[in-house]
Order: sequence, then C-alpha cells, then structure tokens
Amino acid sequence: KPLVSVRHVSKQFANGTLAVRDVNLDLGTGQFISLLGPSGCGKSTLLRMIAGLGAPSTGTIEWPTTSHDASGKPERDLGFVFQDPTLMPWANALANVMMPLILKHMPKREAEQRSAEMLELVGLKGFEKSYPRELSGGMKMRVSIARALVMRPKILLMDEPFAALDEITRHRLNDDLLELWWKTKFTAVFVTHSVFESVYLSKRIVVMAARPGRVMADLDVDAPYPRD
Ligand code: ADP
Ligand code: ADP
Repeated sequence: KPLVSVRHVSKQFANGTLAVRDVNLDLGTGQFISLLGPSGCGKSTLLRMIAGLGAPSTGTIEWPTTSHDASGKPERDLGFVFQDPTLMPWANALANVMMPLILKHMPKREAEQRSAEMLELVGLKGFEKSYPRELSGGMKMRVSIARALVMRPKILLMDEPFAALDEITRHRLNDDLLELWWKTKFTAVFVTHSVFESVYLSKRIVVMAARPGRVMADLDVDAPYPRD
C-alpha cells in the first residue's frame, strides 16, 4: 500500500498559471524518490501539495495511513526541509531540533535526549550548544534535517535542500543523507533540478518537464552500487 497516492492532481494559481497538470503518482514506503525537472516546472508546487501546503485545484492526494492528533484532526506524518534552513537564531542547535517535540509536549529530558541522538546522526555531535550564527551553511542544513526527522516521520519531503551550498558541501551532505536513509529508512522525496544529484541519490526518478507541470517519466535507475 503506498504511503501517498496522487491522483489526477492539477494546480492552477489565481493568476492563471497552470503549475501542475494531471499528475498521478504513488509514493511507496521506504523509497528514495527524486523529483527532477528544470526550474519552474512545478516540482515545488507538487511537493507542497503533498505536504498539505496548498490544496490541488482538481484531483486528490490521499494519505492512506494518516494518523490523528489529540483533537482528532488528521495529521500527515511528514517532515519538510526547505532550501533555507530557517532556524531560530536565538536558540542553539539542540533547542532548534527539540522544538517540534516540545510543541508536542514531550517531557524536556526525553526531548533533549532524542534531539541529541538526532544531532549525532546528522554528524553534529559536539555542536549541541552552538548557535546558528556559529554554524556553516552545511551545518545549518544538517540541523534542519535533524529537526525534520526528530519526530520520526514516515516521509521526509525535501525541496532543493542543498542547492544554495557549495559543491563540496553538497557532496558531503548527499553522502551523509544517503547514509542516514540507510540507517533509518524513512521514505524520501527529494526535489532537485540536478540530473547528477537525482541519479546519485535515488533509484526512482520522477521527471517533470517544462511542458509545465507534467510528469514525463517515472524511471527506475540502476544504482552505481548496492543500496538495499
Ligand atoms: P519548480 O519548483 O519546479 O521550480 P514551482 O512549483 O515553484 O516550480 O513553480 C511552477 C510554476 O508556478 C512557475 O511558473 C511559477 O512561476 C508558478 N508559481 C509558483 N507559485 C506561484 C504562486 N503562488 N502564484 C502564481 N504562480 C506561481
Ligand atoms: P545542474 O547544472 O542543473 O545543477 P548537474 O547535474 O549538471 O545539474 O550538476 C550539478 C552540480 O553538482 C555540478 O556542479 C556537479 O559538479 C555537482 N556535483 C558533483 N558531485 C556531486 C555530488 N556528489 N552531490 C551533489 N552535487 C554534485
């Protein structure tokens, strides 16, 4: 059973732009999926709709395993990583990662422990007390990934997360993201305009193209080395 089913989804903005047209997609549990295409082809718009940020104009996005929060509202079990890490500048790395747990009323001790473990998983052991201004761009992105994963979501949606980073940092983060994924096996959807990055990271590449908003291909690619 897929984690998310996208059925005949289109999105037209108020100004008339047809950003996504008639997309059909099943996101399977445990997959690392890249959503690849040139700038402006609708990747972000699609990803945001999957996250529930903006409704489709037509079509449906189903989350068959959606859980419910304390008040009975359906909750999509996801983490989201944006290109801009948007950390709280007044809080240290640990406090930034803890934030979603504290919002869910997890006891402080437990939240601290879990967040420290998460920081270690993203390679930031020893930087718990550092403030965002003391961290490099790549490190801030690591904190942002830790914050998105600390709730242990089933699915991690990433919107060109490394695009603003220099090439060497991007290399490292790609490698470390893969390692993290092997260890924890969340379902990943990674938006990128880089063919290289999509092939490097994923076995499944969904290609969107400049005939705006269309899925042109859904590819299974052979990984250069074993992934499972
Ligand atoms: P991508 O992520 O592939 O670069 P986007 O999903 O951001 O593409 O954008 C797809 C198209 O929709 C583009 O033509 C963009 O200009 C347009 N678009 C995105 N957001 C809005 C908006 N809020 N209002 C109007 N047009 C938008
Ligand atoms: P685009 O030019 O659209 O960004 P490319 O597929 O041509 O996409 O490559 C993007 C950039 O990523 C290139 O500058 C390439 O050198 C660089 N790159 C090389 N190795 C890696 C890696 N392991 N992870 C991410 N980017 C890499």
